[in-house]
Amino acid sequence: MSDDDLIVVCMPVADMLHPVAGAIVQHCEQCGTAVWLAPSSVRVIDRATVLATLRCVPCAVAQMRAAQARGESLECLGLLPEQLDEVKRALDR
Ligand SMILES: [Zn+2]
Repeated sequence: MSDDDLIVVCMPVADMLHPVAGAIVQHCEQCGTAVWLAPSSVRVIDRATVLATLRCVPCAVAQMRAAQARGESLECLGLLPEQLDEVKRALDR
């Protein structure tokens, strides 16, 4: 994994009983936990020009804290517009 890699943070299936429409089950590449991968995240991964890896929320938080402890800077993209639309549609259901 390099500094430019894309980490896609996914909600564990056990913690999210009602995922957004079209979400598929994948696995955290760190610990193997079953996670939801939303259609918008699939599109982000498809468009990415860097290696994308899936992380459950606990593994992503641990990885971010470890990087901060090493003094490394991390760029967090937050919710992309199409991901926000996806969440809005899920809340309207
Ligand atoms: Zn994990």
